[in-house]
Amino acid sequence: MSEAVNVAAIFGENVFNETVMKERLPRDIYIRLAETIENGSQLDPSIADAVAHAMKEWAVENGATHYTHWFQPLTGVTAEKHDSFIGSPDSMGTVRMNLSGKELIKGETDGSSFPSGGLRATFEARGYTAWDCTSPAFLKKDATGVTLCIPTAFCSYKGEALDKKTPLLRSMEAIDKQAVRIFHLFGNTAVKRVTPCVGPEQEYFLVDRDKYMQRKDLIYTGRTLFGAMPPKGQEMDDHYYGVIRERIGAYMKELNEELWKLGVPAKTQHNEVAPAQHELAPIYEKANLAVDNNQIVMETMKKVASRRGLACLLHEKPFQGVNGSGKHNNWSLASDTGINMLDPGITPHENIQFLLVLACIMKAVDVHADLLRQSAAVPGNDYRLGAQEAPPAIISIFVGEQIEDVIDQLCSTGSATHSKTGGKLMTGVTTLPDFDKDATDRNRTSPFAFTGNKFEFRMVGSSDSVAESNVVLNTIVAEAFKEAADELEAADDFDLAVHNLIKRLLVEHRRIIFNGNGYTDAWVEEAARRGLLNLKCMVDSIPSLVTEKAFKLFGDFGVYTKAELEARAEIEYEAYAKSVNIEAKTMIDMAGKQIIPAVIRYTIVLANSLSAVRAACPEADVSVQTELLLETSDLLSEMKAALSTLEEKIKTCAAREGMCERAHACYDEIVPAMAALRAPADRLEMLVDKGYWPFPSYGDLIFEV
Ligand code: ADP
Ligand code: MG
Repeated sequence: MSEAVNVAAIFGENVFNETVMKERLPRDIYIRLAETIENGSQLDPSIADAVAHAMKEWAVENGATHYTHWFQPLTGVTAEKHDSFIGSPDSMGTVRMNLSGKELIKGETDGSSFPSGGLRATFEARGYTAWDCTSPAFLKKDATGVTLCIPTAFCSYKGEALDKKTPLLRSMEAIDKQAVRIFHLFGNTAVKRVTPCVGPEQEYFLVDRDKYMQRKDLIYTGRTLFGAMPPKGQEMDDHYYGVIRERIGAYMKELNEELWKLGVPAKTQHNEVAPAQHELAPIYEKANLAVDNNQIVMETMKKVASRRGLACLLHEKPFQGVNGSGKHNNWSLASDTGINMLDPGITPHENIQFLLVLACIMKAVDVHADLLRQSAAVPGNDYRLGAQEAPPAIISIFVGEQIEDVIDQLCSTGSATHSKTGGKLMTGVTTLPDFDKDATDRNRTSPFAFTGNKFEFRMVGSSDSVAESNVVLNTIVAEAFKEAADELEAADDFDLAVHNLIKRLLVEHRRIIFNGNGYTDAWVEEAARRGLLNLKCMVDSIPSLVTEKAFKLFGDFGVYTKAELEARAEIEYEAYAKSVNIEAKTMIDMAGKQIIPAVIRYTIVLANSLSAVRAACPEADVSVQTELLLETSDLLSEMKAALSTLEEKIKTCAAREGMCERAHACYDEIVPAMAALRAPADRLEMLVDKGYWPFPSYGDLIFEV
């Protein structure tokens, strides 16, 4: 048994949270800061010195030597540059620890090495980080010591967003404003703020660190680029929710404790479908906190793994032929008065505000399916979306039987008179209680599923930030709310107008609803008939960012300027091309320096055995050795040819002008050439004596953790 933990005592101990602020800040300062955090009012710079002082005192008392502006550049991971608190030594040679208000609020960084997509030339290197006081500062404790991390937004000299947080905060303001209008239309004028809430469920793999270190593909790319399937995969379904093994359990315990100390509300943990795959789900929070905390979750997962002789794989598809990992982005809208706009109540057909919200979301998702799809595009997700385990790349909405029935009633007769109920769950066992069932069963194959009082966007990749998905969700729904509010505020007869609007939206956007199995080919055909987009790969999804529709949407709500969108498209093409190139070069390295030499050594063994047996016993049957030698040699030459082709493709693709062209060339030419190199190598792995194979197999990695 491991040591007991007092969760309540450790929760948030490394966070400069409300309790600490209240304790340590002068009362008037605390009230003004809390105002900004709660109501989104402008931060008053004159209180910054006092806050900085209290924060520094608290951090230093907890052992901190450094502080950093912690931000989320467009690399998808977080960035930090540490500064120690020490000021210049005085005449006596002693130093004092300082953090000024200015240092808290604003940082200047030479940001020229972060992706900017041309928003900023290298000679205009200035970038600024600005304190996001709505996300609390926290202490990171690791081998570098204790560092005070101050969450910040990152912008260029001209104020263009160079990060994932700035647009997220802008989109939260956009939906807040429009959602409040919807509440007011229904007479609920007490509502002053509406905040999007997010609960990102995180999937991950754990493998043994020593084995991980023997695989260059895992080290350089986060996924395996070679690997034959072991005799057993996930077909027995015995890992999902299986008993958590001791080594993994100890990892999860340490992970939870680290996260709780950082105020991350880690809630649920279980084994996932694939062997060695697991999941962690936190309790949902305000969207910007959830995005920050998900970054902390990913970072902590990796850190704790390395401490425990494990490696945490966050790649979307670490093993071909085995389920990949995603991140379910659960999303809802909460008012400051405690109402969830996505809560249908017991009788949804009577809940007109809910039906309007639902109709607006249907419209938003239908009109901007391209953007939602794009928001989940990372190179690794190309190997996951549509691979019979994750939703297809086609966006559709699952609403469940009950809501679909209400939609049907509204579309056909113009009014809805009843809501289906779930009824009782009868187990047939007298000693077991009978339950009230949910009104709707679940659907695990839908990319965008209504799950009772929230939508779950399931396309997001496991390694990706959830920022973009929420930027898109917030903004597209803000637009639909705005258009609805404009129309309804101008109507003479509100009841009639809202009724007609709901019906019109439902009829117009009905095609986006799909309650069936999204993993079938039949759905792909059906979706094409309905005119729904199927953007299969990342490169095909990127143009969605730079359409007139996107410029207008994001421009109208002040979320992205045209220049920011163009920069993002450029960055994504570049990220894709780089990622494919690194993978291709890693394959060349492994094939050329490890697999081919190993196979050659093995063919020598076969050849020697052949001649030795022949010499010792000329009548012996050497057909097995002969066949093996032939087959191995054939595959070896196939590999060598494929290796040369891949090398050639890398050169020709690099010569393409422009990032977009290069990214497309990577997808069209390098990716197939990689598959052509992998195929003979994986067959060789099944033939060659395991003692000669140069790195751990799939079986070693996923079954022997
Ligand atoms: P499931 O995926 O089985 O539906 P849960 O219902 O427990 O699991 O929720 C999964 C995730 O959704 C959790 O992170 C949870 O905090 C989050 N979640 C629950 N309710 C909401 C909500 N109203 N808004 C946003 N996220 C939510
Ligand atoms: Mg889920």
